[in-house]
Amino acid sequence: KKTVPSDIDIAQAATMMPITEIAAGAGMTPDDIVMYGKYKAKITFDTIDRLKNAKDGKLILVTSINPTPAGEGKSTVTVGLADALKASGKNSMVALREPSLGPVMGVKGGATGGGYAQVLPMEDINLHFTGDIHAITTANNALSAFIDNHIHQGNDLQIDPRRIIWKRVMDMNDRALRQIVVGLGGPARGVPREDGFDITVASEIMAVLCLSSGINDMKNRLSNIVVAYTYQGEPVTVSDLEVQGSLALLLKDALKPNLVQTLEQTPALIHGGPFANIAHGCNSVLATQTALKLADYVVTESGFGADLGAEKFLNIKTRTSGKHPDAVVIVATVRALKMHGGKSKKELTEADTEALKSGLTNLEKHLETIREFGLPAVVAINKFHTDSASEIEILEEFCKAQQVPFSLTEVWEKGGEGGKDLAARVIDAIEGESSFKYLYDLEMPVKEKINTIIQKVYGGSEAVFSKKAEAQIRQFESYGWGSLPVCMAKTQYSLSDDPALFGRPKNFQVTIREVVPKLGAGFLVALTGDVMTMPGLPKTPAAKNMDVTGEGKGIGLF
Ligand code: ADP
Repeated sequence: KKTVPSDIDIAQAATMMPITEIAAGAGMTPDDIVMYGKYKAKITFDTIDRLKNAKDGKLILVTSINPTPAGEGKSTVTVGLADALKASGKNSMVALREPSLGPVMGVKGGATGGGYAQVLPMEDINLHFTGDIHAITTANNALSAFIDNHIHQGNDLQIDPRRIIWKRVMDMNDRALRQIVVGLGGPARGVPREDGFDITVASEIMAVLCLSSGINDMKNRLSNIVVAYTYQGEPVTVSDLEVQGSLALLLKDALKPNLVQTLEQTPALIHGGPFANIAHGCNSVLATQTALKLADYVVTESGFGADLGAEKFLNIKTRTSGKHPDAVVIVATVRALKMHGGKSKKELTEADTEALKSGLTNLEKHLETIREFGLPAVVAINKFHTDSASEIEILEEFCKAQQVPFSLTEVWEKGGEGGKDLAARVIDAIEGESSFKYLYDLEMPVKEKINTIIQKVYGGSEAVFSKKAEAQIRQFESYGWGSLPVCMAKTQYSLSDDPALFGRPKNFQVTIREVVPKLGAGFLVALTGDVMTMPGLPKTPAAKNMDVTGEGKGIGLF
C-alpha cells in the first residue's frame, strides 16, 4: 500500500512562489493586485475594469454525485484538473469558494483540495484568509443592530418586531443560537423580540457579494434586501433604513477576488463561499468573470451534488453572470456509489460489485440532469487505493453504456500528471456540440418553478406546500416577486428531502416548509424538509484533533 502524506503535511512542505510571480504568470503586474502578505493578494477593481473587453476563456464546472460520508473529492478533482490542463500546456486557472469555519471545525477539516491537488497557503485559506467572511458577518450584524436601534429610537418605519426576517449570523456551527431573544433587561437595553442566528455562509449578504458585478451593483442589491414587515404587512427594505452605503463600505474590500496558487503554481481565485444546501453554492461572479478574462480554461466548482450546487449554478449564477459552462465534470467514486447502493462506511474497503451496481443509479440521475440542461458531461472517477479493478471496470462499463466520456483520475496521488487524460476528455467535450437551456422560465409561477426542479433535477413527483409556504407564495406574488428564480434549501445527502434516502429514490414528494424572500440576492429561498440554516457540531468535532505548535504551525486541518 502506497502512503501519501496527510493534506496538511503536503501543504506545509510545499514551496510557494511569491504571489507577484503567480500574478505575472496570469498576465498581471504588481499594480494589478493588493498584497495580503507574500502569498495572497486581491485583484483591484481597476484591473477588473481594464480586462472588461478581453475575450472569455472556456468555463468548466465540476459537480458530483450526492455526497456521502465516504467523501467524493470534488475540490481535489477541481484543483487537479486545473493543474492537469496546465501540465498539458494550457493556460488555466481555478476558481473556488472560500471555506467556512463551521464545517472546518465541525466535520470536514480543510476545504482546499487534498493530496497533491491543493491550493495554498492551506492554513490561511481554511482559517481567516483575507477576512472576507468576517467582513460579511460584520455587515450582516451591523444591519441587525441598525434594525434594533431603529425600533428603540421610536420606530418611524413601524417595523413589527414580530415580523423581522433579518437574522444575525456567525461563521460557526452553533445550534444553541438558532432561536434567541434579544433586547431583554428594560428600556435601556432595547426592545425585546425573538431573533436567531444563521451561519454566515447562508447569509443574504454572502449571496449579494457573490452575485454582484461591482460596488454599484452591490449597493443596489443591498438596498433591495427585505428585512422585515410593518404592522400593516408592508415590506421594509435596507433602503428604507438608509444604510446601504455603510454596508457597501464595510464590504468594499471583501468584494475583490483573492488570488492564491495551487501546489503546481496554477493561479487560483478563491472568493465567496455560500453553502450549496442552504444558499446558492457557488463562488463569486466577479472571480469567475475575472478568471475567464485571464485564462483560456477556468475550472470552477459548485457545492455538494448536481441536484444542489450545479442546479443553482446553472439556474441562478448563470443568469447573473451571463456565462454558462462549456462542459460539466461529474465526480464519482466507487466508495460513495457503494454507499448509495446500501453499504455502510465501515464496509467500504471490501469489494462489492452488487452494491456498486445499485448505487450507480445516483450517478445516472445527475448525468440526466446535466444533459437536461443541454451541456456536455464528463465523468471523473476519483480513484482511491481501496477500489478494486473489477469495481472500476463496472463503473467504466456504465459510462460506456451511457455514452458519456469518463476518465480514471489520480490527481490526489499524482497531482496534475494524474489528470491529463481527464483534461483531454474535457477539452474534447468542450469542442463538441452543446445547447444550453435553463430548466425553467422566470415567468412561471413560483410553485411551478419549484415543481420543475423537483421533477427534472431530483426525480421526485411533486412539492407539498405547508400552509405557511402557500400563504407566503401568494403574498410574494402579490408584491411582484414571483418572477425571481428559486434557491432550493435541501439536504445534500439525498436527491429527496429525506437525508436517509440514498441512491435514486423515486415517487417521492418534497415538503416546502417555508419560503424566504432574498431580494438583494435576487431569488426566493424554498426551505424543504428539516434543513437548517444554522448547522450544529457533531459529537466529535474535527476541532478536537486541531492544535498549534509553539512556533505557530497548525495541526489537524486534515
Ligand atoms: P469534497 O470537495 O467533495 O468535499 P475534498 O476534495 O475536499 O472533497 O476531499 C475530501 C477529503 O478526501 C480530503 O481530505 C482529500 O484529501 C480526500 N481525498 C480526495 N480524493 C482522494 C483520493 N482519491 N484518495 C484518498 N483521499 C482522497
